[in-house]
Amino acid sequence: MTTTIHTTWDRDSILVGGDWIPVTDCTEVHDPATESVIGRSASAGIAHVDAAVAAARSAGTAWGTSSPEDRAEILDALCTQLRARRQLLVDTTVAEVGAPVTVAEEAHIDLGIEILASYARLARDLPFRERLGRTLLLRRPAGVVACITPWNYPFYQLAAKVGAALAAGCTTVVKPAELTPLSTYLFADAAIDAGLPAGVLNLVPGSGRTVGAALTAHPGVDVVSFTGSTAVGRGVAHAAAESLTRACLELGGKSASVVLGDAPLPAAVTATVDAAMLNSGQTCSAWTRLLVPRTRYEDAVELAAGHAGTLRVGDPRDRATQLGPVISAAQRRSIAEAVDAAVAGGARLAAGGSGMPADLETGHYLRPTVLADVGPHDPIVRDEIFGPVLVVLPHDGDDDAIRLANDSDYGLGGAVWSADPERALGVAARMDTGQVDINGAPFNPEAPFGGWKSSGLGRELGRFGVEEFTELTAVQR
Ligand code: NDP
Repeated sequence: MTTTIHTTWDRDSILVGGDWIPVTDCTEVHDPATESVIGRSASAGIAHVDAAVAAARSAGTAWGTSSPEDRAEILDALCTQLRARRQLLVDTTVAEVGAPVTVAEEAHIDLGIEILASYARLARDLPFRERLGRTLLLRRPAGVVACITPWNYPFYQLAAKVGAALAAGCTTVVKPAELTPLSTYLFADAAIDAGLPAGVLNLVPGSGRTVGAALTAHPGVDVVSFTGSTAVGRGVAHAAAESLTRACLELGGKSASVVLGDAPLPAAVTATVDAAMLNSGQTCSAWTRLLVPRTRYEDAVELAAGHAGTLRVGDPRDRATQLGPVISAAQRRSIAEAVDAAVAGGARLAAGGSGMPADLETGHYLRPTVLADVGPHDPIVRDEIFGPVLVVLPHDGDDDAIRLANDSDYGLGGAVWSADPERALGVAARMDTGQVDINGAPFNPEAPFGGWKSSGLGRELGRFGVEEFTELTAVQR
């Protein structure tokens, strides 16, 4: 195993069948904190997509019949290679996403590598052959997986998709978001140095409308794994349905943090604010609706606003920073407009607002915003804002809180806070959502992650994530 670390952010090639192929079209990559150009990425075309899919299909025969143990060893080697590049990956994530350095370390890079390591374990442990009475059940690779990733957690999302696909014995064609392609190049470099056979991972950066759409409709793709907006996800599902291609969709959210009457209010509220603001609120499972007992509503609003006001917004390279910029001027505008519309509609601005922080002039920054006195049908309560915005709503007891939590088009994450674990579990079990954390329980990278309703189809991570990329053959004997 060799380690050749490419430190440049000027990448004008696509990876097809193990070869870096230069392309003529490139896109600039910007730093959302400085608004300056930090690098370049190749912009692939339709012919490149065809070549990448062909390379993945051709590599699939050998990779798909390799032993799970061999695949686990490559995944372990990939983790080793990525750890050798950890600092560069962190620096790249800070630069292209604008994530504060401590968030980039923990939530983007270390968690992403931990997830890959979990797939290596699963490749070893999963029953790819299982007895079912007289039947031998073979769990076989589904084929070529198109991995279309978003800009909010580019490295983590890539690890979640590619790691599961490789563990299952699938080959991959990856399309990162145009705004954040650079950490994906580093992942590809690491995969090559880890000894991943040529064609098992192919990289075709480019626009969603061209490369993403071509991959989604491609007859050579067996599974599309997409993370992004619900609107685009719906189009992906539609296009994939034409060829009955399986579409795994991880989409938006408007998750509720439910504080029950017996919960310690300050701990529940501050943890909810922190979760809502993580990654500048650009987290699909963020708890963006805080539901508190009506009798404690004013206290909760005051606590939430007070805590939001203490969060430090600024230079993502400063270790004291808690919120960096949001990804782009367009994203900032869309968040600010949603906040202004809510206030114009009668919401009370308890903290933050649509303006820039007073001490910052450059960068797509917003202040952590808390809105109160909103109605359950207001757009700010129903829509995914994807920025540092929390709404606080009152409830009238456990049943009412569950009703409000479920009164959403989405169902991705959620939280319950109570001094009584059984009561909390009773509420969690009635929330129509993919994941619920009780009393701030830590994230489990092997637990299934995915959504109900408009939050998506299928699950990522752990055993369930690998199984998304397999097909079953039942051999009767
Ligand atoms: P998109 O859904 O447009 O982008 C996600 C990925 O899909 C990107 O790689 C994008 O490519 C690609 N894509 C875009 N169009 C197509 C298409 N027709 N076919 C296939 N792939 C396509 O999200 P946005 O970047 O526009 O963000 C808008 C909103 O989406 C956010 O405000 C947020 O609400 C939500 N979002 C949710 C995420 C989540 O984790 N659930 C992640 C990101 C966004 P490219 O960008 O390169 O054109």
